[in-house]
Amino acid sequence: MRVPSRAAVRAGWIVVALILAAVLIVIGTPDADGASPSQVRWNRTTVHVQSALGDDWPVRVAVEAWDDSSALDIVYSGTRCASTSCITIRWEDLPDWHLGYTNLYTDALGRYKACTIRVDPAAADLSDYLRLSLIRHETGHCFGFNHTYTGTDVMIETLREGGPQNLSQFHKDRLLEVYPYA
Ligand SMILES: [Zn+2]
Repeated sequence: MRVPSRAAVRAGWIVVALILAAVLIVIGTPDADGASPSQVRWNRTTVHVQSALGDDWPVRVAVEAWDDSSALDIVYSGTRCASTSCITIRWEDLPDWHLGYTNLYTDALGRYKACTIRVDPAAADLSDYLRLSLIRHETGHCFGFNHTYTGTDVMIETLREGGPQNLSQFHKDRLLEVYPYA
């Protein structure tokens, strides 16, 4: 196994950023803050997360952050998805410099129905801190969020040790707008 250099990690995120920008342009034009428009949402208010990365990946903790601020219910369901509205996280060899690759899929009404996060085996060498950062960042894309450029929240495009891992107030406000409590 190889340990990705700092430059390699940064390059990987830039490539991921470009790919995700393309995806988001297809499904909806991001606004000035880099998030999807409020009418773009999951087709259910409960989204399950399944991961094949292994028990030493903090997937549950990573995704719980997105669960806390709105009626959107995000349920970690281990290695097997419990419904058809799923975020699937799995290993896959990616082109050079890719650590993660996220795709969102929409139904006929344009609502999110599935999201797939592919993680390159090179990411197995990441620290626990960076594993959490990577998965929380990628799952943010699964909820329609693009990159932010303020450098204070998890959706910045550069992955680094000690970097931000939290959602911004903007993310919480937007989730509550799209998924209000009854
Ligand atoms: Zn990204």
